[in-house]
Amino acid sequence: MRLTVATHNEHKLAEFARLMPEYELDLLPAGSEAPIEDGDTFEANALIKARAGAQLSGAATIADDSGICVEALGGEPGIHSARWAGEGSDDAANLQLLIERTTAGDRLEYVCVIAYVDPVSGNEHLVEGRCAGIRAAEPRGSDGFGYDPAFEPLDLPGRTMAQLTGPEKDSISHRGNAVRELESWLATK
Ligand code: IMP
Repeated sequence: MRLTVATHNEHKLAEFARLMPEYELDLLPAGSEAPIEDGDTFEANALIKARAGAQLSGAATIADDSGICVEALGGEPGIHSARWAGEGSDDAANLQLLIERTTAGDRLEYVCVIAYVDPVSGNEHLVEGRCAGIRAAEPRGSDGFGYDPAFEPLDLPGRTMAQLTGPEKDSISHRGNAVRELESWLATK
């Protein structure tokens, strides 16, 4: 089965490719602009991206909206995770802000919502995956991306996400859990 993946994030793309080896994943046409993510929820933003991608590709499209939620900060940065340290901020600046705003052992949660949009049938579907963790004492590891060096998942304790192999991360991650939900649903279509 073919699916277009609407993302401009190379790390997410690599994870989707790893998680969905039996699917032919197409990219958006080169140079296509990312839509403005002005939704208030992961669901709304995932749908904005998947609908925009489906319009561009004309084919069934998936997009994820994801982020990290800090319990002690009332769920922030949540949908603002990509730009928490300011417009245009990079992974290093966002990670540094997480270290400054939290203490070791604080409860964290990764959330990933994937929207599926088929522009031909008009069919739309949302799935969600979560992954609970705690803030590491200090950033460790060089794999993964974003906040991974500071995130110790409860399901594979003792290492940060950035110290796990790709398949280990996939087996417990928010994106892995969301993809498994999506595949179950796709199998019923
Ligand atoms: P989005 O592109 O608007 O969905 O923003 C996702 C942001 O959430 C990323 O830029 C990261 O800051 C964070 N994020 C999402 N998934 C992960 C992950 O698997 N590891 C680390 N950070 C993540």
